[in-house]
Amino acid sequence: MTKYVFVTGGVCSGLGKGITASSIALLLKAKGYKVFMQKFDPYMNVDPGTMSPIQHGEVFVTADGCETDLDLGHYERFIDEELNYTSNITNGKIYSSVIEKERKGDFLGATIQIVPHISNEIKNKIYEAGITSKADIVITEIGGTVGDIESSVMMESLRQFRLEQGRENSLFVHTTLVPYLYGSNELKTKPTQNSIIELRRLGIQPDILVTRSNISLTESTKKKIALFGSIPEENIIEAVDVQNIYQIPMNFHDQKIEDIILKQFNLKLSTSKLKYWKDLIHTVNHLTKEIEISLVGKYTELHDAYISVVESLKHAGYKYETKININWVDSEALEKEVDLSKVFKNSKGIIVPGGFGSRGIEGMIKAIEYARVNDIPYLGLCLGMQLATIEFARNVCGVKDANSTEFNELCKEPIIDLMSDQKCIINMGGTLRLGNYECSLKEGTKAHEFYHQDKILERHRHRYEFNNQYKELLENNGLVFSGINEPSNLVEIIELPTQKFHVACQFHPEFKSRPTRPHPLFDNFIKASINNDNH
Ligand code: GLN
Repeated sequence: MTKYVFVTGGVCSGLGKGITASSIALLLKAKGYKVFMQKFDPYMNVDPGTMSPIQHGEVFVTADGCETDLDLGHYERFIDEELNYTSNITNGKIYSSVIEKERKGDFLGATIQIVPHISNEIKNKIYEAGITSKADIVITEIGGTVGDIESSVMMESLRQFRLEQGRENSLFVHTTLVPYLYGSNELKTKPTQNSIIELRRLGIQPDILVTRSNISLTESTKKKIALFGSIPEENIIEAVDVQNIYQIPMNFHDQKIEDIILKQFNLKLSTSKLKYWKDLIHTVNHLTKEIEISLVGKYTELHDAYISVVESLKHAGYKYETKININWVDSEALEKEVDLSKVFKNSKGIIVPGGFGSRGIEGMIKAIEYARVNDIPYLGLCLGMQLATIEFARNVCGVKDANSTEFNELCKEPIIDLMSDQKCIINMGGTLRLGNYECSLKEGTKAHEFYHQDKILERHRHRYEFNNQYKELLENNGLVFSGINEPSNLVEIIELPTQKFHVACQFHPEFKSRPTRPHPLFDNFIKASINNDNH
């Protein structure tokens, strides 16, 4: 029978609920339990796929093709399990599914109400995650802050869930902030007390409290929180600020959070298998080299828009004991820049990640040209692959008007064009080419060498593709198409064998990189960048 852990947040947002949930999941997995994770987002969008990356950060894509919240990226990186469509539920999803049922007549004439219809739908989504994953423990994070209007029905559903399942099958972890006040020089517990009161008002008493603070709690602070919050002192887990998020599971482990959970669930406490994670932290804390990589994109003002890319670069860096410093390059500003050597002066490699729309495109193309001409390792991801083919067509093959119909619908030389099955699509949400597709690798290419495999599975999120009518021309000029999706004949990977590393892919390898297992493309990109001594 599946047990359920719910992670809520109070006081303010940005406390690291996602990392808290992931760390708990990692620790339970290390005890030998099968874990699964889920995130509830209280907004009305059906999924974040249509939201601006500058507002909402990266859209993480699961293997089964769901566009999800970036927290799912943390989950997968921490627990190294593939999540799916049951893992990200939004108010938009809940409401549209209830309304769809109502239109079909499924409710047999009943008046549809927030309670019980919406709350039942929410509970069903939680149960569905448990049933379909067959996990021993499902960890569900509730987005937003306790007290928000948006999440109030979700909280009501959790209250009902506890009634149905009891303490031995459901557990509440509440994350709060304990601020330090300079001047009076003390930690303040009142915001935490109030946030617990707010939670109780909704009928929920937390079992465990995770307190975020910049210094360790004093004994008396802890006692005070325990007393006012009706939480045993040992169930107050400190989350003191850390340099590296991968340290957090170990800090929680030292405070035995997983044992507290397992005891409440009446589950066996075996020894934890955490050596691999300790080794990782040791590596992270003892990096001997550092290099700079330029990331050229148009969403650079919000670094979270590229979080999986940044994490993937770090993971590859760990393998070579190298710290990766990112040089954030705004592609729109780059369009006006005359001296690119100034911008890329200290960079050992250049990366152009995914993106949508025409803003800043010419800046990205300039960066790719600079990388190619100066033989600086270049990794292109999705849009970064499409632009690499445009750059090559324009500057090597002499196709001056080469472009993508995404930026100019009537362009004369559509090197990149809308996929044929996208042409009659009207709805923008959830209609891209999403999730896992197979890619066959050509023998004798860099891609084949990096993966050591003939066929790979990678995750996608795009609407446009390379136009095969230009394939011969580009090939004749030296570009190698090293990965193809055979059923659709779609180009998946390109490379320039004359360069140290000039590789780009239509898919998003950043979704599959793990801290202890860097993705082969990132691994080899960082390796080539470290060895790049002409720059
Ligand atoms: N905008 C491009 C497309 O839709 C690339 C998408 C991306 O980079 N994720 O095909």
